[in-house]
Amino acid sequence: MTTYDVISPVTEKPCATVELADIERTDEVVARAKAAAPAWRETAPADRARLLRRFAAQVDSHLEELAQLEVRNAGHTISNARWEAGNVRDVLEYFSAAPERLCGKQIPVAGGIDVTFHEPLGVVGIIVPWNFPMPIAGWGMAPALAAGNTVVLKPAELTPLTAIRLGELALEAGIPEGVFTVLPGEGAVVGARFVSHPDVRKVCFTGSTRVGKQIMAGAANDLTRVTLELGGKSANIIFDDADLERAAASAPGAVFDNAGQDCCARGRILVQRYVFDKFMELLEPGVTSYRAIDPSDEDAQMGPLITHVQREKVRGYVESSDVAFRGTVPDGPGYWYPPTAVLPTSTDDPVWQDEVFGPVVAVLPFDDEADAIAKANDTAYGLSGSIWSENIGRALRVARGVEAGNLSVNSNASVRYNTPFGGFKGSGIGRELGPDALASFTEVKNVFIATDH
Ligand code: NAD
Repeated sequence: MTTYDVISPVTEKPCATVELADIERTDEVVARAKAAAPAWRETAPADRARLLRRFAAQVDSHLEELAQLEVRNAGHTISNARWEAGNVRDVLEYFSAAPERLCGKQIPVAGGIDVTFHEPLGVVGIIVPWNFPMPIAGWGMAPALAAGNTVVLKPAELTPLTAIRLGELALEAGIPEGVFTVLPGEGAVVGARFVSHPDVRKVCFTGSTRVGKQIMAGAANDLTRVTLELGGKSANIIFDDADLERAAASAPGAVFDNAGQDCCARGRILVQRYVFDKFMELLEPGVTSYRAIDPSDEDAQMGPLITHVQREKVRGYVESSDVAFRGTVPDGPGYWYPPTAVLPTSTDDPVWQDEVFGPVVAVLPFDDEADAIAKANDTAYGLSGSIWSENIGRALRVARGVEAGNLSVNSNASVRYNTPFGGFKGSGIGRELGPDALASFTEVKNVFIATDH
C-alpha cells in the first residue's frame, strides 16, 4: 500500500501519513459497501434513525478534537473549525429524522390502489474537495445514509484527516461495517473509479467545475446519478438605500473567511454608484484590520492558504490588478496571502470573472437595478449572492433576477443545514441539505395493485 505525507499549510511540514488507495482497493471497498446495502436498507427506520443520532452524538463528543485536527490539516481558524464539526453533527441530527418520515404517496387511480416508494439507490460514492472537508462530507453522507444507501467517501488528497476520523466515529457509534467507509486516494484513481464502477449508483461530487464536467461525462456511460456542487463567483450587491455600515462590516468576512477558499465567497462587490466612495471608505478598515493570524488563536479570522501553488495563483490575479487596500499577514511559515481589495478596470478582467479562491475581493460600481442584475449574472457561475437594501420589494425583485441558487438579503450567510443548497449554471446540478436533498438519494418506485379482478 502506498502512503504519503499530509502537509499542514500552517507549518509547511508533514502532519500525518496516510494510505493511498488504488483501483483494486477501491473495488474491494465498493464490493463491501454493496454487500452491506441490503441489511442497511432493511434496518428498521427507527433503528437507522437511532444509529444516525448516535453518530451525531459521537461527533459532538469529539467536536474539539475534530476542530483541532482541521486547524492543523486545512489551516482553518479554530472558531470556523468548531462550527464545521458542529455542522456535521447538525446535518446528521437533521437527517436522522428522515428514515421514519420518508413517506411515499397513495395516488387515486382507476381499478386499483397505487402507491409510491422512495427506494435507496445502493452504493453512493462521495468525492470531497479540500476547502471544507468536514461539512461537505456531512452534506453528502448524512442524507445518503438516512435514505438507506451505503456510502464510500473519498476526501481530497490534501485534507483527509477529519474525514478519516469521521469514518472511525461512525463505526464507534455502531454504524455497521461497510455502510460508511472513508477511502483516501487520488481523484484520478479512486474518484474516477467511483464514476466508472457499475455498482456505484450515484456520485456526489463537490469540487471544481473542470472536474465536475469530467464526472458528468463519465457518468453518462452507465447513467450513474450525479449531484455536482462546483465553483462560484458570487456577487454582493449593495444599493444606495442599504444600511451601508452593516453591509461594509459584513463584506470582508463574506470573502476572506477560510482565506477566500469558499465556493460561496462574495468575491465581487457591486456598489450603487452614488454611494461607491462612501462604501469604499467604510470597507477599508475591515480589510486592513482583518485578523490573519495563527489559526489556532481564538481571535483568528483567517488562516493561510492551502498550498504554495494556490497562493501563487492568487498572487497572479492581484499582480495584474489595481489594489485599493490590503491587510497584513504573518511572515511564515504558512502559505499566507493578505486580505486584498482590488478595483478591476472592467467586468472582463480575470479577477472579476474567475474564481480566485483566495482572500481577494473585486469592487465595481453599478447604476440601477437592471445594471446590478446584468453585472451579477455576467458570469459562468451561479451559486450564491447577497442583496443589501432597506427596500424589501427591490431586494426581492433583484433576488428573483439573479441566476444563483442561494441568495441572502441584508446578510451574507449562505448555508443552513435545513435549507436547500446548490448552484445554477456552471455552479452545478442538484441540491444538497434541507428537505430537497433526500430525493436525489432515492428512486421513486410506483406500484399498482389491481383490485377489480
Ligand atoms: P477539485 O475538482 O480539484 O477536486 C475535488 C475532488 O475531486 C478531490 O477529492 C479530488 O481528488 C477529486 N478529483 C480530482 N480529479 C478527479 C477525477 N478526474 N475524477 C474524480 N474525482 C476527481 O477541486 P478542489 O480544488 O479540491 O476544490 C475546490 C473547488 O471546489 C472550487 O472550485 C470550489 O468552488 C469548489 N467547491 C464547491 C462547493 C459547492 O458546494 N458548490 C463547495 C466547496 C468547494
